[in-house]
Amino acid sequence: MIISNLNSSIPAPDGIDRKVTERMSFLNTVADHVPVILVNEETMDRICPPGIGYDAHCVRELLSQYYQEKKLADAKDYPGKPEETERIWDRIVEKCRHVVFSAIGVYTENIPPVLLGIDLKDTGIGKKNSETIWETIENNSRKVVYLCPERVMEEALEISKKPQNPFDDIFLYIIFHEYTHAFITKGTNLKKYESVIEESLAAAVAYQRFSTSSEIYNISRFLSNDKLPAEYRSFTFWTEISRALPLIAIVDKWKRGDLAFSVVGMDFDDFLISSDLFLEYGFAHFRRFNDSKGEESMLENLAIRVLMHA
Ligand SMILES: [Zn+2]
Repeated sequence: MIISNLNSSIPAPDGIDRKVTERMSFLNTVADHVPVILVNEETMDRICPPGIGYDAHCVRELLSQYYQEKKLADAKDYPGKPEETERIWDRIVEKCRHVVFSAIGVYTENIPPVLLGIDLKDTGIGKKNSETIWETIENNSRKVVYLCPERVMEEALEISKKPQNPFDDIFLYIIFHEYTHAFITKGTNLKKYESVIEESLAAAVAYQRFSTSSEIYNISRFLSNDKLPAEYRSFTFWTEISRALPLIAIVDKWKRGDLAFSVVGMDFDDFLISSDLFLEYGFAHFRRFNDSKGEESMLENLAIRVLMHA
């Protein structure tokens, strides 16, 4: 992997490239071609201005209210008909999408030098470093993961007064999360429900890279922070699904655009899934949806299920 510091006051943890290499699994195709560039908060906000995500409490409340209205005895019964799904999804977007958050990391494909604060004509101190970094970015077709160590440190300090270990773990988590976006390459113009699915998937892939109890403690604390939008916290949805279909297969289906077929009809709560059953449910559900609004409804339905896991 390639990692360079543009203007952050906090360096990368020692041995980070070894840790990434050891754990990257299917993301190895990305790591060689997508440099990680460290930037301060100001530069990060220029590259990726603060975004808006979903409030988990609000989603849960809204859905439980909906089920009560419908007088459904079993709250696990999800929206069924396409029109219902559409109505609930619109309500979730309208009422629950209000958590403002600043980016800790971001994957982008074409950031101009001016946004990075790099003036290639500047002859002042730091020019050499900026130019070398810009060369790295150009050589990799401007596909870059930007990461803000200052914000990683803020999160680490919320977990422990001795932040070194949480800092290292969250730093690593952000790299894997962003590498997953780079692997999927669906771009940044996602529809709202697509973005919920992709963020929770990237979180699930990154979470799965950790195995020791101290790492899992740190990452779980980080991901359960109330300030974090629901879509980042609801990775457990995919952890459950991945007991029937490996995460790499899920990510690959998402990348190719046929995930909805496979997952929407799954009765994952009961968890009596064999792959045959899984396909049967998936396709039966698809046929039902295909009559009217098709895939869009299935994906909205999927996004609702994801958010319920936050
Ligand atoms: Zn993300």
